[in-house]
Amino acid sequence: MIEFKDVSLVYPNGTQGLKNINVTIKDGEFVVIVGLSGAGKSTFIRSINRLVTPTSGSLLVDNEDILTFKGKDLRKLRTKTGMIFQNYNLVKRSSVLKNVLAGRLGHVGTVRSILNMYSKEDLSLAYESLKRVNIEEKIYNRADELSGGQQQRVSIARVLTQQPKYILADEPVASLDPPTSHQVMTYLKKINKEDGITTIVNLHFIDMAMEYADRIIGMRGGEIVFDGPASEVSEKT
Ligand code: ADP
Ligand code: ADP
Repeated sequence: MIEFKDVSLVYPNGTQGLKNINVTIKDGEFVVIVGLSGAGKSTFIRSINRLVTPTSGSLLVDNEDILTFKGKDLRKLRTKTGMIFQNYNLVKRSSVLKNVLAGRLGHVGTVRSILNMYSKEDLSLAYESLKRVNIEEKIYNRADELSGGQQQRVSIARVLTQQPKYILADEPVASLDPPTSHQVMTYLKKINKEDGITTIVNLHFIDMAMEYADRIIGMRGGEIVFDGPASEVSEKT
């Protein structure tokens, strides 16, 4: 469970990224955050794995206030919360296999990774994760040989090898064409339902949000301006 209690974040230049956020996300939910560019969606999502640090309030992940986390606690939090980015963040010249195992072993430059000394468990987890998003046949390709949609599927597989409790996806389809976007959203939803991984996705298209979300949170100017089931959004618009 994720609980924001009066969370605000002011960036060093004075910009208010989040303003008095109070919200609870329960285990297993599939939440889509919508809002225009600059609304605070990315700041919200990045607060949860402490890529940014709110300046006041408390933010509980599984009943622990993560705002004071350092070192080992922070590493554990980041293993628990798998991140998916708009631009995939794969190491382009490395194989799909190496990229995927980075989710489990840390970055692609670890000793085991450089020497290709993977255990049987590593390899089977990588293969199974790639299979979940139907991209296992590209396991030995270089990441930059794949299309955008394929790279995003690899980044989903990378998050799966991390065996996270939460998936945080920051504009995961913003660089993809509509059919590919639907494909990626369908995989995220399927994984949420099958594995029970609590998933938070930022999107800037309300149509796509309504199609996939169980719950939609609308943001504007760092504040939550809507929070409810997708069905309520369609009634109002
Ligand atoms: P969104 O993801 O909805 O586009 P962001 O969370 O990225 O919104 O941004 C929220 C606000 O914070 C915007 O006004 C943005 O310009 C500002 N902002 C984001 N990152 C920084 C930063 N590192 N320093 C200063 N302001 C920032
Ligand atoms: P899409 O139109 O789906 O975005 P692309 O046209 O980029 O995809 O790629 C289509 C196919 O060609 C994909 O299966 C991809 O793996 C392959 N491909 C794309 N670029 C390269 C490359 N530089 N080297 C090898 N294969 C590539």
